[in-house]
Amino acid sequence: MLHSPARVVPAVVSAANLGVAPVSYRISSSDLGGHLFTVALTVVSPDPDGQSFALPAWIPGSYMIREFARHIVRLRAESGGKKISFKKTDKHTWQAAPCAGPLTVHYEVYAWDLSVRAAHLDRSHGFFNSSSVFLRVLGQEQQLHEVDIVRPGDAACAGWRVATALPERNAKRYGFGTYAASGYDELIDHPVEMGEFVLSTFTAHGVPHDIVISGRTPNLDLPRLAQDLKKICEAQIAFFEPRSKRAPMQRYVFMTFVVGNGYGGLEHRASTALICARSDLPVIGKAEMTDGYRTYLGLCSHEYFHTWNVKRIKPAAFAPYDLQNENYTSLLWLFEGFTSYYDDLFLLRSGVIDISAYLSLLGKTVNGVLRGSGRKKQSVAESSFDTWGKYYRQDENAPNAIVSYYTKGSLIALALDLTLRAETGGRSSLDSVMQVLWQRYGREFYSPAGGRGLGENEIEALIEEVSGCRMKRFFDRYVRGTEDLPLDSLLAQVGIAYSDTRKIAVPGLGVRLSNDHGESRVASVYEGGAGHRAGLSADDRLVALDGLRIPGSGPDGLLERYRPGDSVTLHVFRRDELLELRVRLRADDAPQVKLSLAEKPPAAANIFLR
Ligand code: ZN
Repeated sequence: MLHSPARVVPAVVSAANLGVAPVSYRISSSDLGGHLFTVALTVVSPDPDGQSFALPAWIPGSYMIREFARHIVRLRAESGGKKISFKKTDKHTWQAAPCAGPLTVHYEVYAWDLSVRAAHLDRSHGFFNSSSVFLRVLGQEQQLHEVDIVRPGDAACAGWRVATALPERNAKRYGFGTYAASGYDELIDHPVEMGEFVLSTFTAHGVPHDIVISGRTPNLDLPRLAQDLKKICEAQIAFFEPRSKRAPMQRYVFMTFVVGNGYGGLEHRASTALICARSDLPVIGKAEMTDGYRTYLGLCSHEYFHTWNVKRIKPAAFAPYDLQNENYTSLLWLFEGFTSYYDDLFLLRSGVIDISAYLSLLGKTVNGVLRGSGRKKQSVAESSFDTWGKYYRQDENAPNAIVSYYTKGSLIALALDLTLRAETGGRSSLDSVMQVLWQRYGREFYSPAGGRGLGENEIEALIEEVSGCRMKRFFDRYVRGTEDLPLDSLLAQVGIAYSDTRKIAVPGLGVRLSNDHGESRVASVYEGGAGHRAGLSADDRLVALDGLRIPGSGPDGLLERYRPGDSVTLHVFRRDELLELRVRLRADDAPQVKLSLAEKPPAAANIFLR
């Protein structure tokens, strides 16, 4: 149904909701300074036994229980002008007393979370995910859901527009008015931005794509951004549908909130909400590819790839989502890891970066994975399953205890890609696997017939079927096991040299430091390093090394005068107590992997570009 080009209001009329009164919401604000959205929710035919309402405990794509209901204030219910009593049945759920209906629930939502996961409101803009502001009407999730987005009365909002991929029902594009979704699941998959944003539209294989930039960004080179994003989007659309080049959505919205310093994105079925640093965005008249701009394009590429991989090809555990509880899957190494592999790869394939820039990004990922000893203790399958309590709840011990299913998952994708290409003489690759996943699980996911999610144990067999290669050993070692990937030999086969240039003559403390207002603060202590052995702890503030002050930038300059094996006296503050530690310096064992083209003409470019 999502592929029908003639439909004006996509996906809102189905057999399930024809002829039934919609669930309707009205959202506005009369207190921008208090960061309060005002919501009225009307249910025409409430449950005769007492209608229940719940706010999701988490937002799909961000695997942590966030208990959005804690931001609801002043909830009341009425029917026909008469007050209806209600009770809370758990921390997310309210139940109204039985009434004939229509039943209207009024409440306010405190919106002051500057992230892509919840809601944010002040005089400069408003942003919300519906999972933070719209109560779910239990039992009526499949009805048509209408949202009336009303311009706040404050004079500051006179020039505001609305950006969302929610289909318009009685609103002009970018206008205030009524929008609609075919059910609660669709409703919460279309974030809404309102304000005086900058807007640009390009088409990718015929589908309109909006770029919406909120937050002050002087001299933004919007045409360059549109040009680069178009290349990335077209490459991805053609990747999944090489013949028809048909995108899975009818339009797409990249919405970015620009801040001084920030980074993040959340994927949705026809849009993404992003946060980036102002310095990441391109400036008119400056054509170079900065690290910041490459990072931003990589983020856009990542969230866009999710349009296929996780928003349509999904783990069975997410089909459907249980919005009140943790949804356990051991497959995030595929859904996040493979997406992380393809995000940078599509910068290369679309011509936005060249092969040496790509190899430099890949080298950074390898170093990041090799830095933490947690990779020896937790597999990516375990990391996926435990993300609710570990990856998303990282503390100072994270490098020693967990592995990232993003970064190691992306290296698994690389190793798998190179292995399949090598073992099949180039007939099969990870690309072939992704395309079959798309055809079997993704393409029809939102069609009227519906689709199913990928079972926990299906991917291994699917790869074997697509490639004809035996996969058990690979999965045992790298997915279910904790072995390091044999990237040096795999990359050598395609003409890429892998060298580790770690500085064994340079001593280090074996800690990760942060500059905290001019003080050098220990963020993490790496297991087995000099700092660990000497008793340094996270949050210690480094004061002096052999009597010389350690600056906020850290002790590297001082350490240059020593060699591994030397002993030094380190003064640190732990809380308000001064400690003196004797540290035996060890070689700085941070991995320094560098990847480079070993051959000319480079086979690697051909491998990665096909
Ligand atoms: Zn992701």
